Amino acid sequence: MEYLRDDIAGMAGYVPGFQPENPDQWIKLNTNENPYPPSPAVLAAIREATGSDLRTYPDAACQAGRVAAANLFGYPVEWTIMANGSDELLNNLIRACVAEGEEVAYLHPSYSYYATLAEVQGAKIRTFPLTEEGEILDFPERYEGRLFFLTSPNAPLGLNWSLDEVAALADRCSGLLVVDEAYADFAGQNCLELVRQKPNVVITRTLSKSYSLAGMRLGFAIARPEIVAALDKIRDHYNLDRLAQVALVAALEDQAYFQECVARICATRERFAAGLTDLGYKVLPSGGNYLFASPPDRNGKRVYDALFSRQILVRYFSDPALAHGLRISIGTDEEMTRTLSAMAEVG
Ligand SMILES: *Cc1c(COP(=O)(O)O)cnc(C)c1O
Repeated sequence: MEYLRDDIAGMAGYVPGFQPENPDQWIKLNTNENPYPPSPAVLAAIREATGSDLRTYPDAACQAGRVAAANLFGYPVEWTIMANGSDELLNNLIRACVAEGEEVAYLHPSYSYYATLAEVQGAKIRTFPLTEEGEILDFPERYEGRLFFLTSPNAPLGLNWSLDEVAALADRCSGLLVVDEAYADFAGQNCLELVRQKPNVVITRTLSKSYSLAGMRLGFAIARPEIVAALDKIRDHYNLDRLAQVALVAALEDQAYFQECVARICATRERFAAGLTDLGYKVLPSGGNYLFASPPDRNGKRVYDALFSRQILVRYFSDPALAHGLRISIGTDEEMTRTLSAMAEVG
């Protein structure tokens, strides 16, 4: 197509997890959504905001959201920025820091959307292998690329890095170290304090998983004010609509509901892991709301197909590094009990 950039015309594009037409007829464990509804306070805030306010533009800065995040995490407001999903931040961090032809790196396996974002920017891509034991291979003593994404906990494997390990990585990066903490709320640990300690660390978070708000598209970052200012320059100025803004504040302020939900999912995760281990599966330790598990015959596709035919949807990756297993999101206790029985039947 003569009107398109050659690289855009030639690129494959990201393929999001499958969303079935009648989700109620499935046990849907393929996109790490939260099985519980968002806080009732969130729904009330959205209902209240659906009045005549929608006629006027939202607050371009999303100041109330920044204040809520600043209060919650103990950072000054200027160190926070809100986004239309954390994907927006990942994109804008590349746009702000990586020029065409410069390099972006991330681990393989991790979140494959980084590749799409880097490609659109015309950036070079480098990956470092990650073993199932959590070892990062071939990472140079000093990494000179412009930006390194560390997904922590790792998706899809679930592995965590300690604060000291991430701090050591930050010291080895010449460019920015973006710690994508999409799942950190389920890990019982995080790297938030590194933003203060290391000039090159940025943390991104999402409300899609731990706050049950994937449908609202809400994320945020904690970063140094100079980085926040750059991200503010290049984002869509009205990136969060009015409903998203009130939902964000209500969600962050209802910590009691949030903590109960997260604790329930972590307890279900541990029960499900034990059940899978009893079935002979190899289950990696997970700090996320999902498990990566391999059947004894290391044939992920076989189990995926068998579960699919029973209306249970999990995530299979044809990538040779992942094809031996499945990533299974943690649903309710009942959903996981039914999934486990189906897996026992399937063998
Ligand atoms: C889900 C996910 C995101 C995207 O979060 P949104 O806020 O929904 O855009 C980012 N990184 C990882 C690793 C994820 O799994």
